[in-house]
Amino acid sequence: METFQDFLQKWPFERREKGLADAASESIARALAGENLQPKDFLALLSPAALPHLEDMARRARDLTLRYFGRAVQLFTPLYLSDVCTNRCRYCGFNAGNKRKRRHLTVEDAFAEAEAIAGMGLQHIILLTGDARKLSSPEYIASAARRIKPLFASIGIEVYSLTEKEYALMTGSGVDCMTMFQETYTPELYLSLHPAGPKRDYAFRLAAPERAARTGIRALGVGALLGLERFEMDAFATGLHAWWLQRRFPGVDISVSVPRIRPHEGDFETPQEVDDRRFVQYITALRCFLPRVGITCSTRENAFMRDHIVPLGVTRISAGVSTAVGGRASAGSADGQFEIADHRSVREVTADMAKIGYQVVIKDWEDPAETAAC
Ligand code: SF4
Repeated sequence: METFQDFLQKWPFERREKGLADAASESIARALAGENLQPKDFLALLSPAALPHLEDMARRARDLTLRYFGRAVQLFTPLYLSDVCTNRCRYCGFNAGNKRKRRHLTVEDAFAEAEAIAGMGLQHIILLTGDARKLSSPEYIASAARRIKPLFASIGIEVYSLTEKEYALMTGSGVDCMTMFQETYTPELYLSLHPAGPKRDYAFRLAAPERAARTGIRALGVGALLGLERFEMDAFATGLHAWWLQRRFPGVDISVSVPRIRPHEGDFETPQEVDDRRFVQYITALRCFLPRVGITCSTRENAFMRDHIVPLGVTRISAGVSTAVGGRASAGSADGQFEIADHRSVREVTADMAKIGYQVVIKDWEDPAETAAC
């Protein structure tokens, strides 16, 4: 059976370069007028030639977002379980080479943190850990999910790549959503950015969403870290990944995250800065290509940007965020994974969304097992 890695190989750089070079006003206008866009249309919308059409793209993206999602945006928040990590991702403040005081929550610490988050009124939470299989084992993550499950409608995970059996353990422990950031879809660049640690296995990470989908998970998210690879290349591969997953697993809710690199501990310099125009181009192109896909924007973006991109396609935003381990119920670790750019509380985000005519959704899903128990 074809994997996404097989499919991606049908789109080598040369083919993408040709698609970008061939993009012209006519192909962009055709893409904006059409339904059921194909990958070549998405590539045209990501091309430099599409930049003068940004207003038309924004109009089309706004219309499609209203058609499929209305004026609603879902809120979530991350809970960092541990910043102990064995990897050396060059762009991350948690990398094993950074000398820092680290913290690993016990399951009871995690529950206290979760209670503080639930107290903010949130119902969707994402558990994160560094990649340290011995300390933050799959069993530990599953135990944390089981412990906090009564407090939340939805529990997501953003953790290291698991085997299919381990994903089944997660779904059996109340996890209904999994996000995997491939960081970059370019294999050679991926290896140079991940010089040591288990995360160096590009193929194992790339196939993680497929393994999770086979366990019956409700929702999957994918994303590249914008700023590592040339914008068009990773933006295209990410959209292609979501498009392929939608077709292969039609019963799974697919979403795309759009993180741009933020300042963090260490001396890594962003190789391919993505400016605001290209960032907006990415979100509007994604919405035109994938009208029903969720788009997630974290607090890596500031309040001004987030308030302006919600109407263009973003359907999920975080609020009341801390990227440190602990910090809500107790003293957190010294520094977070990266500096956040939007420090608004849940209440402030809710009020600001109302000002632009949008309603926040605290809970848009409930585990059928929980409903049956009522
Ligand atoms: S990105 Fe994840 S795996 Fe890499 S160093 Fe940071 S926490 Fe560890």
